Amino acid sequence: MSDAIPTSPEEVLATLDLSGNRKWVYPTTSQGRFWKARMAIGWTLIAIFVALPWIEINHRPAVFLDVASREFVFFGLVLHPTDMVLLTLFLLTVVLLVFFVTALFGRIWCGWSCPQTVYLDFVYRPVERLLEGKATKRRRLDEGPWDFNKIWRKSAKYSIFLVISLFLAHTFVAYFAGWQNLLEWMGQSPLDAPGYFAMMAITTGLILFDFGYFREQMCSLACPYARLQSVLMDEDSLITSYDPSRGEPRGTYRDRKQSDGVLELDGEQVEFGDCIDCGACVRTCPMGIDIRDGLQMECIGCSACVDACDEIMESIDKPRGLIRYTSQNAIEGEETKVARPRVLLYGILLLVALTALTGMIVTRGDLEVDISRASGTTYSTTTDGEITNRLSMRLRNRTAEPAQFRFEPVDLDGVRVRIVGDEVPVLQPGELEHFDVWVVTPPDEMPPGGTVGQFHLKLDDDVVETKDVRLLGPRS
Ligand code: SF4
Ligand code: SF4
Repeated sequence: MSDAIPTSPEEVLATLDLSGNRKWVYPTTSQGRFWKARMAIGWTLIAIFVALPWIEINHRPAVFLDVASREFVFFGLVLHPTDMVLLTLFLLTVVLLVFFVTALFGRIWCGWSCPQTVYLDFVYRPVERLLEGKATKRRRLDEGPWDFNKIWRKSAKYSIFLVISLFLAHTFVAYFAGWQNLLEWMGQSPLDAPGYFAMMAITTGLILFDFGYFREQMCSLACPYARLQSVLMDEDSLITSYDPSRGEPRGTYRDRKQSDGVLELDGEQVEFGDCIDCGACVRTCPMGIDIRDGLQMECIGCSACVDACDEIMESIDKPRGLIRYTSQNAIEGEETKVARPRVLLYGILLLVALTALTGMIVTRGDLEVDISRASGTTYSTTTDGEITNRLSMRLRNRTAEPAQFRFEPVDLDGVRVRIVGDEVPVLQPGELEHFDVWVVTPPDEMPPGGTVGQFHLKLDDDVVETKDVRLLGPRS
């Protein structure tokens, strides 16, 4: 790292110098009202994340992304690759929701709900503070020699980080493997389950690297959502902002004392603003930026600077909100418009997608069925003169219970259905089965050239699906 190279906020990120070297951030903690609310939300989200793979709905984990079997479970709804339309619609709804929320509330997700912020602020950093002390102490420790004090504190910190990362990695993998598999693998030697061991080692390593070292660089350099912000937000979106009309001209106590609280600017005498240039908002920022420089790409809207400044304002008997959640327009004295074209457009599209998604889920049957004529066949005639058509069926049980479906003709006199080989098997939840059936039609019931027969697929006595099937027969 070269001290000779000057840094310029216009040219580099706040946490990188011009050579690209990392400037480590030591944020102070501002435990104001927003911090308390964020912590409550953060721990609720952590509890949900940890619990979801263990909670069962209809004998399945609440969320289970079984990529190997290409089966995705969301709160009792089981999706398969054949549900591609529904899956695509679901993803589209999520994207539109992100667009809509970002247009209205800016980076509220980043500051309040993103796992990167939640785990760093409420899990890893508290451990770090416990072992290495407050921001100034941590900086001193990092800059100091590798003596016994530093070695044991760093060792203890990274050992605890490792345990937490292992736990998070196991929870994460449980979403994809299921907790039964996970517990089974955990009881095995790495040689018996090398895939599991490798997957867990990589996931743990990535989590440890991210929360132990990479930290705010993830938001500044790697996160694609952060890159999208400028496109999705406008001057009316909610942002964390410093109010220069109230805060400027800023001045420390000493500045104010030296000039009797009045400042000479461009030949005019002006009173100092509310900002006492204490730097609390900068010291607490986990992204290492100064919010007083205006809206910056790195700002994740975490409100730490709001809490820090509110505390300062209270201590000097000024109203809170010199830094606050507001909009660019409000800061510039304009009216903030909520209903504006982009919000309306995203809102309408989101509503349409949500309605379509809900409709598809509600009308989705218990059975996924596909019936076609067995390939390369027409019809055949038995020695009794009956006409047989061979059909291929593909059935998937979408219910949460084992099920045996029945395939029955509707209003086709004398028509019988015979399963080739055996009866329709009992299908386990989510199970897919292929089998063939013979449809046997008495000769006098078959019109010349064939007909379209209607069939019911039944579960118990309920009709779950009705299908029309082309049946072939002799022309005369
Ligand atoms: S915390 Fe408030 S008063 Fe202190 S420097 Fe920041 S904006 Fe100014
Ligand atoms: S400027 Fe304020 S809201 Fe933005 S990241 Fe820093 S502390 Fe959080």
